[in-house]
Amino acid sequence: MLHRINLPNCLPALEWIVQLQTDLLTALCSNAVDQAQVTLNWVITQLPGLPPNWVISFCSWAIEGASILERMQNIAALPVATKHQLLQHFNNNLQYIDAFDHAKNPPATRRLEHGMPHNADKKYRDFLEIFYDPVFYRSKGYPVDTDGNINGATRFHKDIFLDRCHKINDDLRVCPLCDGSLDGSQVDHWLPKKHFPELSCQPHNLIEICQACNSRSNKGEKSTLTNGDATPFEDWFHPYLRPANGKFTIRIELKGVPQLQGGNAHDAIRLSNLDSLINLQSRWAKEYRTQIKRIEGKIRGCKRRGATFTTNSLKSLIEDWRDAVQDQIGLETHAMLEQSVLSLASDENSHLFAEFFDFAVS
Ligand SMILES: [Zn+2]
Repeated sequence: MLHRINLPNCLPALEWIVQLQTDLLTALCSNAVDQAQVTLNWVITQLPGLPPNWVISFCSWAIEGASILERMQNIAALPVATKHQLLQHFNNNLQYIDAFDHAKNPPATRRLEHGMPHNADKKYRDFLEIFYDPVFYRSKGYPVDTDGNINGATRFHKDIFLDRCHKINDDLRVCPLCDGSLDGSQVDHWLPKKHFPELSCQPHNLIEICQACNSRSNKGEKSTLTNGDATPFEDWFHPYLRPANGKFTIRIELKGVPQLQGGNAHDAIRLSNLDSLINLQSRWAKEYRTQIKRIEGKIRGCKRRGATFTTNSLKSLIEDWRDAVQDQIGLETHAMLEQSVLSLASDENSHLFAEFFDFAVS
């Protein structure tokens, strides 16, 4: 989140989904409920006020051979102590946004343990992930409007969420993480739903990013916290709760490798973690070469139109380009990096100015 982003104004609908998860998991984990009790009628009774037709469809949707009802039965069948453990984990991790507020002291957020007895971790994940995929997809959706009011006539789904994201962030048309193109963008779970399934629909955990950032070789399913730490988010930025914008400059080394630099030691660690998460430095090193070619292309265009260059005229031209690109930050792909390259090149003592000058007079 090199760029600041705003939460979409459909939070009540997303919070409604989290409450639905909470209500169902709490009921399934209660001492008195076992597998045999979890029938379609039982689920309808647990969710008063919801359109029964939607609840019936919800229970019957099947993914990888198991319906949502069967997934609920699998949770209910677990030993009581295991169910309590899962419910506590769920409630602890749902408080994760409080960790970014120093006045609060929530329990430490942790990844779901692997290899729990009775396959409990898999059953828990299998149940909670479906609230995102497939139920949050357009073909299904939740029976609420964007204000979180139950409405049998409408469905809330991912496309509406994305539409609201675009409307509230209409001054941002690039990837908030890397400043690259948002073409083919995807909704990312900041804390991956594989390890944090309880955050599959949590509003602060959903962010639209570019395909490259979301790919397996970059962010993929990497965790954006220091697991096991008492304060696991201390060394991390967060798209909504602790964005990096305004807390870094871009330094370009002699070899042409752009680097994020933080103002203080805390931010330097967070920037380093962000960089490793999405491999920003190596991706920007490639983009840097593209920027150099673009600037050379602009100089070539000036030469073609008959311009001749002195140190002062080239410096003045580069300064104009630098100032013009400032307004494009957030709107044009990699304008942030272009601005940094042009800032460096506008210094007539820099190696970059010397390179462009040689190009201009050759
Ligand atoms: Zn990106």
